[in-house]
Amino acid sequence: MKIKKYIPPLVMLIVFEAVAVTLWLTLGNIFYLFNFSYIGISVSLGLFLYIKKYKHARRITQLLVGLYMLIYLGIISNENMQIEGFWYYLFTGVFEAATIHYAVAKIFGPLIFGRGWCGYACWTAMVLDFLPYKTPQQPRKKLGWIRYITFAVSFAFVAALFLANVGNMERIMFWAFIVGNVLYYAVGIILAFAFKDNRAFCKYICPITVFLKPMSYFSLLRIKCDKSKCVSCGKCKKVCPMNVDVTDNSRKRKNGTECILCFECTKACPKKAL
Ligand code: SF4
Ligand code: SF4
Ligand code: SF4
Repeated sequence: MKIKKYIPPLVMLIVFEAVAVTLWLTLGNIFYLFNFSYIGISVSLGLFLYIKKYKHARRITQLLVGLYMLIYLGIISNENMQIEGFWYYLFTGVFEAATIHYAVAKIFGPLIFGRGWCGYACWTAMVLDFLPYKTPQQPRKKLGWIRYITFAVSFAFVAALFLANVGNMERIMFWAFIVGNVLYYAVGIILAFAFKDNRAFCKYICPITVFLKPMSYFSLLRIKCDKSKCVSCGKCKKVCPMNVDVTDNSRKRKNGTECILCFECTKACPKKAL
């Protein structure tokens, strides 16, 4: 048995365990040990299943992490892990919950694993990926500017609550999480059908991409093309849900900061060039 091919899931497990233990010991909260161990096991399991060529490997991880975050952290534990929750903890100066989550998954983590969050963990995309348009059926629209508006609105909403000094912020943030998610799902599903593209919400609306895109530009983990093997058949671009020009190896490749590391292109390549 070739043990070497199982190194990536093992390394992933070790990295998450290191984060889990470090946060547990430095912040004195055993929740972090449980939280990051669970996520590490889910991600490693997905990688293991991918190596085993199980075709739903990514979806398994996405459901394990997405459901945990949405139902356990969001609804049961009342942690607003959406961008409003991040602003909230940032304004209160607390390095906890949403701030840690954003630092690891959406701000500094993408320097290593790009937009892995979007492919393997996001609970919004977890639902959108069930819709029928897994590969876009229409050309990409020039609507990416909308993300800056949603980003600004989320910031202004939380800033206004702080400036107005409203009471019971915890409760407001809980309801903001519920209403925000309902809105995201509704807009995401409508756009997916309108543009015949499951990931239209990710491409044009999601405010988190304001962090994710510039950071993932520098990502260590990238899909690269071996030009000596490529026969320019175009199959990789056809299956890409994010319209990435994956045969161009430069960092400036078209839609390069959109790659969610789903590996649909590598699976589709007949020459194993990716
Ligand atoms: S772009 Fe936004 S909605 Fe889409 S997967 Fe990433 S974080 Fe989730
Ligand atoms: S198909 Fe390939 S290039 Fe497109 S998002 Fe998935 S991994 Fe990235
Ligand atoms: S699918 Fe493979 S061979 Fe075809 S264009 Fe893409 S990288 Fe090249």
